[in-house]
Formats: sequence, structure tokens, C-alpha cells
Amino acid sequence: MYNIFISPGHGGTDSGAIGIDAYEKDINLSVSLYLHEMLIKNGNFNVVMARNTDKTVQLFERALMENEIKHDLCICIHHNAVNGNAFGAEVIHSVNGGPGKYLAELIAEEFKKNGQFIRRVFSEESKVYRGKDKLYMIRYTKAPCVITEYCFIDNKTDILYVNDGTKRKAEATAIFRAICRYFGLSVEEELDYKSLYENEAQRIAVLEGKLEVLNKSLMDIVNFIMK
Ligand SMILES: [Zn+2]
Repeated sequence: MYNIFISPGHGGTDSGAIGIDAYEKDINLSVSLYLHEMLIKNGNFNVVMARNTDKTVQLFERALMENEIKHDLCICIHHNAVNGNAFGAEVIHSVNGGPGKYLAELIAEEFKKNGQFIRRVFSEESKVYRGKDKLYMIRYTKAPCVITEYCFIDNKTDILYVNDGTKRKAEATAIFRAICRYFGLSVEEELDYKSLYENEAQRIAVLEGKLEVLNKSLMDIVNFIMK
């Protein structure tokens, strides 16, 4: 089993980027929950999520959670916004390159298969901590860490990549496929995707923080649904 840490960016009092009728924190969580389901259903992964509801979790808390057990990968899910004009996907990895850079390249390839334009796959060095990464999660997590920015949610065309559940699922599928390829696991061309949730109302209740999803194993989720 591989241990995957998913960090849905922002949450709670921190909305993240503000898009067109959308907060980044909500889209991040929605995509993360889809990815979580896919990984658990696949059967090769244990998953820990930094948050699975709309709540505030500081970066240092996230890094501590990631450090708690040995993870094989850390995926931080974000969406961009800048001036309303920029578009395309960005994937950020460590200045040290290595496995994180490899995963970032796989994710970019899979985003491209969804029809998304790839702006850049890059790393950024801190001006304060020389030779180290500028972004906190990449700097302080122990597992190879990648930050994904699938699209610009303040751009009226780019937000169409995440404006409904099907498209968010497509984004999660791309990341899922890249993770499978990273570990050399076979990826079925057509995913037989069936939600673990009984219905959309239950999924939305989770998204709205009215229900907590336990992570770690499929049984946890099944037990949770059966309650
Ligand atoms: Zn963000």
C-alpha cells in the first residue's frame, strides 16, 4: 500500500483565490474528495487528507500531519487567479527535482489529455532560505510534494474546466492517473467511476461540512455511509 497525503488548499476563514462566483477553497475540496475516492477504490492506497470539510487548517498543521507517518507522496490541490486574463495549468515541484518533478510532469501530461493548456511545470527557490523551496508545503513535507493549479478561476473561459462536478472529477482523474503511472500501476483507459456516496445529496452534505468523511481506508468510508 502507498500512503498519499492530500492537502486541499485553503478552507474555513481562508477562501483562497476568489473566482467568478466561486471560492478556490470549495473547488479545491471538491476535487480532493473525488481524488480521495478514486485512490481508496483503487485499493493500492491509504489516504490522509489535511481537511475533508470547509475548515481552517494552517500550513504548519498540514506539514505536521504529513510528517506524522511516512507518506509516499504529498499532493496539494489549488486553483489560480490573477488578473482575469491568465489561463492554463501550473504544476509546482521542489527545486531538488527528483521524484516530485517526475510526478509534476506526469500530472501535466494528464491535464493536457483533458484538453487543458499547460502554462508551466516549475520550481521556485526561496529568497530567504537559499537552496530551499519558496512554497511552505514543498519545503516542509517529507514526501515528494507537488502543488497543482489546474486552471484560473477568475478567467471566464478557464473556469469552465471546473464549473461542475463532471469536470472536477475529470481533474481528479488526471491526478489519479498520474499517481498510478508514478507507481507503475496499470491505469485503465476508461475509469469505471462509481461514487462511494449513495447520492449527490450525501456528497454535498460532506462538501458543506455537515458530514465528516473518515479517510485512511475504504472500510472507514463504508462504515460511515452505513451509519
Ligand atoms: Zn491556492
